[in-house]
Amino acid sequence: MAGDSCLVCGGDGRIANSFGGGEKVCPACRGNGRRVEEALLRDVTKTKPSHYTNAAKAAAPAKATWPTTAAGGALANEVKASSLSEEAKARIVREIIEYEGSHGHCTQTFTKKVRRQLR
Ligand SMILES: [Zn+2]
Repeated sequence: MAGDSCLVCGGDGRIANSFGGGEKVCPACRGNGRRVEEALLRDVTKTKPSHYTNAAKAAAPAKATWPTTAAGGALANEVKASSLSEEAKARIVREIIEYEGSHGHCTQTFTKKVRRQLR
């Protein structure tokens, strides 16, 4: 593909010395004939997705303000709808998020324990 070729040397990796001293390695692509911007973009596309995934995973626990499971979310909604103080609600919702984080889901026992606090 012509679009991938180095713009300086046209893709052959070498440029003719204009003073007649023969050819030398193309300084733009360092001799591989690839368009430099194109190569950089490819590297970025290659490394970006995994980087973003790792960053999202690492940031998730700290940023979580609402349960991720359906049961946890329903339970948190019950907490929000209760007559507890905003401080208590926030504390219980945090408990749900933390419980989900360590157990992967809300168990019946935990759900019951939370509901008892709402009454
Ligand atoms: Zn070149």
